[in-house]
Amino acid sequence: MADPAREAPKRFEEMDLSPAMMKALVKANYEEPTPVQAGVIPTALEGVDVIGQARTGTGKTASFVIPILEDLLPKREAPGPQGLILVPTRELAVQVRDEVVKLASGRRIQCVALYGGKPIRGQIEKLKDGPQVVVGTPGRLLDHIGRGTLRLGDLWCVVLDEADRMLDIGFRPDIERILRKCPEENRQTLLLSATVPPPILRLAQRYMHEPVTLNFSEGDVSVETIDQLYFTVDHDRKFDLLVKLLERENPAQAIIFCRTKRGVDRLLRRLSKKFKSVNAIHGDMQQSARDRVMKSFRGAKLQVLVATDVVGRGIDVTGISHIINFDVPEFCDDYVHRVGRTGRMGREGVAYTFVNPEEGPQLTRIEQRINRLLKRDEIEGFDASAPVIEEPKKEKSEAPPPPESAMKRRPKRYRRAL
Ligand code: AMP
Repeated sequence: MADPAREAPKRFEEMDLSPAMMKALVKANYEEPTPVQAGVIPTALEGVDVIGQARTGTGKTASFVIPILEDLLPKREAPGPQGLILVPTRELAVQVRDEVVKLASGRRIQCVALYGGKPIRGQIEKLKDGPQVVVGTPGRLLDHIGRGTLRLGDLWCVVLDEADRMLDIGFRPDIERILRKCPEENRQTLLLSATVPPPILRLAQRYMHEPVTLNFSEGDVSVETIDQLYFTVDHDRKFDLLVKLLERENPAQAIIFCRTKRGVDRLLRRLSKKFKSVNAIHGDMQQSARDRVMKSFRGAKLQVLVATDVVGRGIDVTGISHIINFDVPEFCDDYVHRVGRTGRMGREGVAYTFVNPEEGPQLTRIEQRINRLLKRDEIEGFDASAPVIEEPKKEKSEAPPPPESAMKRRPKRYRRAL
């Protein structure tokens, strides 16, 4: 039985997926599951019905495509389509079909997209080839069902993707007609929706069997309202940039995130020399000390808090105006949790991420995860690149000053992979 409270896997390796799927994930460059995937995939693989509250851009497509592909029967046992995915628009039908093709890479799996505005003949021909997975808009799917060109007898999984949008467009009667024609026994139904208003719940009550509800939209909502920027900065210049940034922003309250406890301690030592109202919190500190720090932060007696992810992600203080990712978070999920500390209760918030020139791919992954690009920021007159010393190190007094040109190296940019 699915346990929604269990620890979500952090890696695809923990999900017991087939070698073919693991290969396809590597090829797709999906290194770690998004939170939606970490929640929905293991639950759906148990065969239960799932309502996943998630919006587009969260990796929700793969979260239902992977469980379908993992459990497909051989064609000789099930010649008809086994998975049917209902989507609101043509564009989404194509996008979902492409995701199926991508994740089925290296395997003999066919998928067809059926949507209006395209000649039905070509689609009928493709259906004759026996695709295991069919994606379509409700109107065109009904058309095929009516003509007898789409057989539903072998279906065991039905997905309602972007269910709220489908209902908004007025597809409710069509969806119900289709669901009534799908096999009931042993059918698994997955419903993905950014919101779950009463009409969706009614649909779920009528056509789903004891669904498990997983909500992934809470953290994302606030992330959308937060200004998010990044700085390109060499590792050795990060501390100086931080000082400049704190001086420029003079935040009401800020959390600065570091990746390690040692990093937190080191940064606190250095910052304390420059700023008065700074303290730190991490998991190696005594609980009583942590409580004291949190009390003064909550009471706004502390302006800047340096923290690790584990401790920082639970902080719920409404006065936090700034999040500074001194280190890029290791997991995209952590980025969302970090940034979600600000902009709470409808307040304004801003998040800065320090990225060194080698960390471009990490930034790109974060941008894919939140489905938006971070804006680049710079501090006027601040050189974010470390000086290059070309001479081997000699005695301090003997070393000639580095040439002016080497001191003024342009900060390296990286190519966005989006
Ligand atoms: P979706 O929300 O399904 O529309 O996905 C949004 C984008 O994220 C798509 O371009 C996917 O290819 C991409 N994506 C999905 N899952 C992952 C992952 N685990 N790692 C990296 N990118 C992903």
